[in-house]
Amino acid sequence: MSGPGAYHRPVIAIDIGGTTLTIAEVRSDGSVRDPVTIDSPARIHGDEVVTRIRELVETRWPHPCRIGVGAAGVVDPVSGSIGRASDSFQGWTGYPLRERLEQAIGVKVQVENDVNAFLIGERRFGAATGERDCLGVMLGTGVGGAVILDGQVIRGRRGAAAEIGHMPVLGNDRCSCGVPGHLESLTGGRAIARRWAAATGRDPKTVDGAREVARRAANGDAAAPRIFAEAGKALGIALVQAATLFDLSTVIVGGGVSRAWQWLSPGLHDVLAAYPLISGTELRVRLASLSERAVLMGAASLGACGDQWKKPC
Ligand SMILES: [Zn+2]
Repeated sequence: MSGPGAYHRPVIAIDIGGTTLTIAEVRSDGSVRDPVTIDSPARIHGDEVVTRIRELVETRWPHPCRIGVGAAGVVDPVSGSIGRASDSFQGWTGYPLRERLEQAIGVKVQVENDVNAFLIGERRFGAATGERDCLGVMLGTGVGGAVILDGQVIRGRRGAAAEIGHMPVLGNDRCSCGVPGHLESLTGGRAIARRWAAATGRDPKTVDGAREVARRAANGDAAAPRIFAEAGKALGIALVQAATLFDLSTVIVGGGVSRAWQWLSPGLHDVLAAYPLISGTELRVRLASLSERAVLMGAASLGACGDQWKKPC
């Protein structure tokens, strides 16, 4: 079954973030077709997310095979409900996303945390291909994590396993969750911008995220490389701890802040050199290779059964 004929039942993937929502068809080779990105209706309410998705699916893919979702927030692995989400989401905490989407569209839906979906995508199609065990870290506005052991995503009883952004590392800066000293308070994009603004006396509202801080570093700013060095050091501490706990040797790093790798990696590699793993193996930290499509590709993989991409049809 392929091509646009009457029996073509596409696999649809959705990436729901706090800023944007992207929906696309994903083929079994990982190719992403006809992606559409809209302002995230998650800012309004969970019901609005379902309504907009239903409209988009009915218009563009009237006979989908199944739907996979990568959603920001802690996702309950059994019910597909959202357990906890950041303050940019309204009516999202506790929202039964899988159930409501299945009712609205009438096909099987699977919901996964977006960082888990990112790592599943990178493992099936990208930088983590062939890895049985790996850690994934998304450096975006905040910091997310995912762990795959023996080929299985470790989700935890409440879906909060591998939330590496909320591991204590250094300092007293307040994290988005309210607790001081978490990794996200040093290495998240919002934190990097805020810390650079504080170091230079700028109004943080006028700083264009970590992107601007990286630009400043490239242009010879004195404070920017130090902010990134501290961010890289904090990341290194969290990675060494996670790798020690799970006997890992591979880490995949993605997200917008990873584009500033040349500024992050010196601090990171200082820590990796100072704290070699007890396993005797080297901790290899690689950049993700699928850019923002990884979440869609991983979400589309959720319902696939081995090589059978369209199993639920
Ligand atoms: Zn936190």
